[in-house]
Amino acid sequence: MTERFAPPAGGGCRTAPVLKERGQHEVFCGLTGIVWLHRKMPDAFFLVVGSRTCAHLLQSAAGVMIFAEPRFATAILEETDLAGLACAQEELDRVVAELLDRRPDIRRLFLVGSCPSEVIKLDLAKSAERLSAAHAPHVRVLNYSGSGIETTFTQGEDACLAAMVPDLPATDARELLVVGALPDVVEDQMRALLDGLGVGPVRVLPTRRADDAFGVGPNTRVILAQPFLGDTLAALRRRGAQHLAAPLPFGEEGTTLWLRTIAQAFGVSESRFDEVTSAPRARARAAVSRAAEALNGRSVFFFPDSQLEIPLARFLTRECGMRALEIGTPFLHREILTPELDLLPDGPTLSEGQDVERQLDRCRAAAPDLTVCGLGLANPLEAEGMATKWAIELVFTPVHFYEQAGDLAQLFARPLRRRALLAREHR
Ligand code: SF4
Repeated sequence: MTERFAPPAGGGCRTAPVLKERGQHEVFCGLTGIVWLHRKMPDAFFLVVGSRTCAHLLQSAAGVMIFAEPRFATAILEETDLAGLACAQEELDRVVAELLDRRPDIRRLFLVGSCPSEVIKLDLAKSAERLSAAHAPHVRVLNYSGSGIETTFTQGEDACLAAMVPDLPATDARELLVVGALPDVVEDQMRALLDGLGVGPVRVLPTRRADDAFGVGPNTRVILAQPFLGDTLAALRRRGAQHLAAPLPFGEEGTTLWLRTIAQAFGVSESRFDEVTSAPRARARAAVSRAAEALNGRSVFFFPDSQLEIPLARFLTRECGMRALEIGTPFLHREILTPELDLLPDGPTLSEGQDVERQLDRCRAAAPDLTVCGLGLANPLEAEGMATKWAIELVFTPVHFYEQAGDLAQLFARPLRRRALLAREHR
């Protein structure tokens, strides 16, 4: 199959200036990651050590309370705890003991820190160590922070996965490790492609079950399935693993380049690569081009939210014919994003961090056809007549690899079609 993945004429955005902003930002906190992580790890339980606000976020804002078999909960820090009057550690021991007694199916328990637990400096690492010793070997207790202080919502997954790395045993085996929580059906598609290429063994972090544990060492080759996993990558590198830097597997182009990076590292022949990827690539191209009819020639403005902004802007500009006006990202992790920046046509403003009022002014002045932003900004912007896409949906929806490329483009096309329909009705 012929390649069309040349770098853009202007040389890409690797050296483009970045507008750095530090001000009020509007994003969900890292607790949100529990919403998709709990589905991925059926034998895990997430115990948020937080306030009633944290409980409300999980139960209402995220809208995913599972009444039958909940796999997350909140150990509420009451005012007496916050005032330091009660021994929160003892209280936590009691809550965990009751939980594990009631739920023998739990094999991994995550104590998830929050703004309140950080404010009172509750040492959850110490708690996890003590509780692990008390409940070993059946249950492993780990901790991470989902606090909203200076973080964004996808960092919850990064913190959770990074917390699991020190537990992985050492190995010298040459293995591929894919990092990032993918929906099961998407993970299966990825495994089928890698299997077809003859790459293996393939490990995935997070594992579906505690017993699927694997080792990590100098012969481990790590590739990220999500761009927001910088801390996990750093933890794996400390264990000797080597990073395969590649564009993220969004769209036909991103998926092909991601797979090709792996294929090159594992010595897969070009003919085998073509044999395995030709048909799904053709399907992905056809599906994207159908959805791209509504996107071609339209402009897009990204507020910083999911950390997926740069890979998605690359997909929309290169495969769907859109024009990016501003691409905001909460953090610009260059080691991870340089392959993306190299492909991104120059022209858009790149911004890192947020000063929301200033960015809203820039957005209104730019008058994009589509604005990708958080829930808090979407409604007011819609009321001003702008078409918006909720960034959080891009994390909840299966969007990776060839078979989802068309759906990914459709996610952006839908708000534009809806707005066009509304405009026709009001004519
Ligand atoms: Fe709010 Fe912080 Fe709790 Fe998140 S962790 S719900 S930002 S209090």
